[in-house]
Amino acid sequence: MVARAARAADLARLDAAVSDCFACPRLVRWREEVARTRRAAFRDQEYWGRPVPGFGTGDARIAILGLAPAAHGGNRTGRIFTGDRSGDVLFAALHRAGLANQPTSVAADDGLALRDLRIFSAVRCAPPDNKPTPEERDTCAPWLHREVTLIRPTLRVVVALGAFAWAAWWPVLRQVYGQRPPSPRPAFGHGAHWSGTDAPDLLGCYHVSQQNTFTGRLTPEMLDDVFGQAKQLAGVD
Ligand code: SF4
Repeated sequence: MVARAARAADLARLDAAVSDCFACPRLVRWREEVARTRRAAFRDQEYWGRPVPGFGTGDARIAILGLAPAAHGGNRTGRIFTGDRSGDVLFAALHRAGLANQPTSVAADDGLALRDLRIFSAVRCAPPDNKPTPEERDTCAPWLHREVTLIRPTLRVVVALGAFAWAAWWPVLRQVYGQRPPSPRPAFGHGAHWSGTDAPDLLGCYHVSQQNTFTGRLTPEMLDDVFGQAKQLAGVD
């Protein structure tokens, strides 16, 4: 797995290799079972049912790091944050920020394009209850590390959606940037900001899950503030 990730010479090859990964038995079973049983509203659709690669530009100055694909979102459509309520909230905000050409993300062929932005997750397969095990997180990490390596020349800011993504960044710092992570680790919080030397700034943002957006814990204004700060730090107009 580590060797397969390291061999990917560019993002297209990396995306293809990620999509063909079967390294985590529990997650492979789950993604395929969800794709087979489907949700009633999507019964007539063919689910992707595979790992979900990153999405966005190869010269991104900003990256959004999420937890994992949603069972009936990314695992159905094959594109991260696509086809579910979390994506509705996220892409509406990215469109307001000028980082996406449209405010919706419903299917892989819907014409969505990002500007200066790449989106990926710490774990590439949908996990039961949105909870990957530590072993699955570690098994999947080489894909993330390779993806960050490939966009490293332009990458300036990473927005971590939630505590899991925030924690997943520190191994990246070690593996990709050759730096010892800060000790103690800075705590995750909405609005948290860690700034290192010769590495991207890290911003914390509550996850765009329904649990957060339906309850008002995360509002559109809060997302606008985070992406405004990300653009400013990254030098994006
Ligand atoms: S979670 Fe990552 S490492 Fe595990 S099977 Fe999916 S893509 Fe492969």
